Amino acid sequence: MRIIIIGAGTAGYSAAAALSHNKKLNISLIEPTDIPTIGVGESTLPLINEFHKKFDIFSDLQWLENSHGTMKFTIDFRNFTTKKNSVWSHPFYVNPDLEKIHILDNLNLTNEELTDKLFYTQKLKNTGFKKNNQDISNLGAYHFDASLYVKELKQVALSRNVQILNNKIIKINQNNNITQNVILDNGNTLEADLYIDCTGFKNILFENLNSKFTSFTDRLFCDSAITIRLPYINEEIQKVNATLCHALDNGWVWHTSLEGTLAVGYVFSSQHTNADAATIELKTYLTEIYGYESKDLHHNVVKFRSGSLEKSWIGNNISIGLSSFFIEPIESTGIALFQAQIIELNKILETNMQFATNYRALYNKTIKNKIFAVKDFIEMHYILSDRDDSQFWIDAKSITPNATQKKFIDLYKEKEFEEIMNSEIEGIFGSLSWFLLLLGMDTKSI
Ligand SMILES: Cc1cc2nc3c(=O)[nH]c(=O)nc-3n(C[C@H](O)[C@H](O)[C@H](O)COP(=O)(O)OP(=O)(O)OC[C@H]3O[C@@H](n4cnc5c(N)ncnc54)[C@H](O)[C@@H]3O)c2cc1C
Repeated sequence: MRIIIIGAGTAGYSAAAALSHNKKLNISLIEPTDIPTIGVGESTLPLINEFHKKFDIFSDLQWLENSHGTMKFTIDFRNFTTKKNSVWSHPFYVNPDLEKIHILDNLNLTNEELTDKLFYTQKLKNTGFKKNNQDISNLGAYHFDASLYVKELKQVALSRNVQILNNKIIKINQNNNITQNVILDNGNTLEADLYIDCTGFKNILFENLNSKFTSFTDRLFCDSAITIRLPYINEEIQKVNATLCHALDNGWVWHTSLEGTLAVGYVFSSQHTNADAATIELKTYLTEIYGYESKDLHHNVVKFRSGSLEKSWIGNNISIGLSSFFIEPIESTGIALFQAQIIELNKILETNMQFATNYRALYNKTIKNKIFAVKDFIEMHYILSDRDDSQFWIDAKSITPNATQKKFIDLYKEKEFEEIMNSEIEGIFGSLSWFLLLLGMDTKSI
């Protein structure tokens, strides 16, 4: 089967490296070197370990060293509630069943006390910075420079005979939701059985296909980020095995520890502030907490589209990565969700059957359910806040909980903790994550 992957960002190269483990597939990847990719100092989730292992992508952690990466064991949230200097932690889980039992035995504790006391991954994070180490890497996930990670994936793809073409697509010939061929800027025509769109927000294959795009901006206001790479002033304090998310007046700031630099980004709502004001807010904050001089800080502005295609697979076209969906950067879900897309696609390709309608429908349903389940979880970071010190937080927490969110809020209020923890949840965050979120946002008063 011939596959053309269009686009060479993290999603395109992840798809190429992973799917090419199947020797029956003949894969080409189109990499126009003059169109930039998104790369902000990404933070990932533990699914990345399963993804690498499943497709036999890397055998050791050399890729992490080469990507200037560090290990992470938790995601920490600061000032998402009015409690002064409040912090709650979302740890990764070593043994979820055991953790659930331990939580139920310790319900008098706050999220901070509970995670400190019970979660092994939290302890790993708290006891000094852990250098990259194969033995414990599987207990967590990673921060890395995505542009360097892509180079590592490219080596794997090349070693598995993926053909890489430094071209742009200038025309797509489609009829009745089927792509017949694509025309490159050198005049060549390429044909395939399956076309995978990894062109990010450009989403070029799907422009003329019949797939509705659902925007999430009516419930999730953040749509922009100011990003800065900082040299460390004090590695002891700044470099940690956790992604720190710190709420500000119009959104929140990520702190992602890389080797050599700290990547930060202020994710904000352009309905509530503008890029210039957000830049000043971020730089003032970085001066206050770390002591950077504003004039030394060079920033970029990234706009993003929060939403999802209703169907990510139409005819012989599949959309993976930012071309298919993006929620927002909180909780590091972008890479994990597209890895889940590739895993689902691989299951179907491995059966070696043609693209029967029922498989497409199943794929679309599975992917949509995962994305929407994660969206529910992410919205709760705002809905549960009791902050009312800016219009952003007032608006963000005024969103009416949907049925799933209401169910969890009610269960929490009624102290039905066991029921929360035994709930079946689709997506990439399980019931433990939901419980710790409710506890962490100090939902006792709602
Ligand atoms: C502000 C921000 C912060 C984020 N933080 C995180 C995070 O911490 N953790 C996480 O998991 N995810 C994060 N994400 C999401 C993550 O960056 C993306 O999921 C990931 O980089 C995949 O992007 P992509 O490959 O789909 O798109 P891109 O990186 O945009 O790549 C698109 C590719 O398509 C190519 N292309 C474009 N047009 C054409 C054309 N006409 N012909 C051929 N090729 C073309 C481009 O050259 C490029 O190679 C973040 C996203 C944003 C916006």
